[in-house]
Amino acid sequence: MADKLMTLANNPVTGGLVRALGLPTPPPLARAKEGWVAQPFVDRVVLLGAAPGGFATEAARSALSGGGARVLDVLPEQEGRGVDVALFDATGLSTPADLRSLYDFFHATVPRLARNSRVLVLVGLPEEAPGPAAAAVARGAEGFVRSLGKEVGRRGATANLAYVARGAEDRLAGPVRFFCGVQATYVSGQAARVTSSVRPVVSAPMMAALKGKVALVTGAARGIGAATAERLAQEGARVVLLDVPALQDALDATAARVGGEALALDITAPDAPARLVAELQGRHGGVDVVVHNAGITRDRTIAKMTPEAWDQVLSVNLAAIIAADEALLASGALRDEGRLVYLSSISGVSGNFGQTNYAATKAALIGYVAALAPTLAPRGICANAVAPGFIETAMVAKMPLMTREVGRRLNSLSQGGQPRDVAELIAFFASPGAYGVTGNTLRVCGQGLVGA
Ligand code: NAD
Repeated sequence: MADKLMTLANNPVTGGLVRALGLPTPPPLARAKEGWVAQPFVDRVVLLGAAPGGFATEAARSALSGGGARVLDVLPEQEGRGVDVALFDATGLSTPADLRSLYDFFHATVPRLARNSRVLVLVGLPEEAPGPAAAAVARGAEGFVRSLGKEVGRRGATANLAYVARGAEDRLAGPVRFFCGVQATYVSGQAARVTSSVRPVVSAPMMAALKGKVALVTGAARGIGAATAERLAQEGARVVLLDVPALQDALDATAARVGGEALALDITAPDAPARLVAELQGRHGGVDVVVHNAGITRDRTIAKMTPEAWDQVLSVNLAAIIAADEALLASGALRDEGRLVYLSSISGVSGNFGQTNYAATKAALIGYVAALAPTLAPRGICANAVAPGFIETAMVAKMPLMTREVGRRLNSLSQGGQPRDVAELIAFFASPGAYGVTGNTLRVCGQGLVGA
């Protein structure tokens, strides 16, 4: 739905009034129009800094120069030329005094950041640090990045951090390109973990990443699911779009629009796991990407919540997902190098008034991916969750005006995200190039100030 404040704040006639009233001035955000392109960083200026002793600098450099970027080691002389990506390799930090290198680099660079720029800091895993002080320093970088995100967000920029395990440098290309790319529009203040637990992939193409793959998206008739189906199809996947039989017409229309195949099925039906296996194995020989997106809310405070409201939410948002996974894994329908993606929520991170049922399921998925991921790593399968914040869908359009306005503004970008923004992170998790990232939950919330 239209964001009127965004329109007024960015209009030369009314913008001054919006600022004079002290209202938030949401910056216009850049978004990718198509899928991944062959040279996503052409014409982009990257400033690459590093603390001495870092082990990820060259991997980061080749990820970005391989995408066409002009990678510089010092700030460009021309005042007019902004920096599109500021990437700092902090994997060499080990003492509190070393943290000063973050200050030095970003103190000089932030004033030169272009609109909608990207900040990424790479740091070693705290648990691999040689001692408690070095672990503290690695974790300190996360606090630095989360605060920086709140500052640069005013200009539509995002700031993220990747913890990199020693020996996982060769897996950095995918995550670096995602966090430094236009696709990270609404992903900010996040800390991903790049490890070498998952068996390496045979190939990780930069474009048409899902060519030849089969993807299932549940709850795909509308909203985030529809945007995800579209995004995966753009990457070349054959997409099966699943939704309840009651939404058959909308499902057929979305499937036709994205060139996918509709499957009308209630995921809570007792025979749903078996039907899924039959459909995917029978018609497609298996499945490579499963996006568990279908979800419902039945909000009520705990004292007023009916047992039916509790049971329905638990059934759709959690039990049906686990049952489907068990069937897909036991039957072998999920192929090696598969990708499982789950829709959690910031409610599952921070809790939300009137959502004990919903938050229980969305937090459960965070625990589920963390426990499931190591069991699937030997087969090259990754399992990750995305936790959307305020996303402009039919769900939030129903909120009362003031609740909606508060939810929409309380993030570093002062605006809601689009379904497409969530689909971008899902598409990254679904890609072969994400093989260094598993068991993670990342938020797509514009760095929500609530539950951050
Ligand atoms: P939506 O209501 O627009 O779409 C959800 C889809 O799931 C619907 O098409 C619905 O018919 C389908 N579905 C529900 N129960 C089903 C079942 N039993 N079997 C098959 N399909 C079923 O919601 P959305 O806003 O697009 O949200 C998608 C996911 O993202 C959900 O899991 C939601 O909890 C999560 N999420 C959304 C937001 C947001 O701001 N919109 C925020 C956090 C998390």
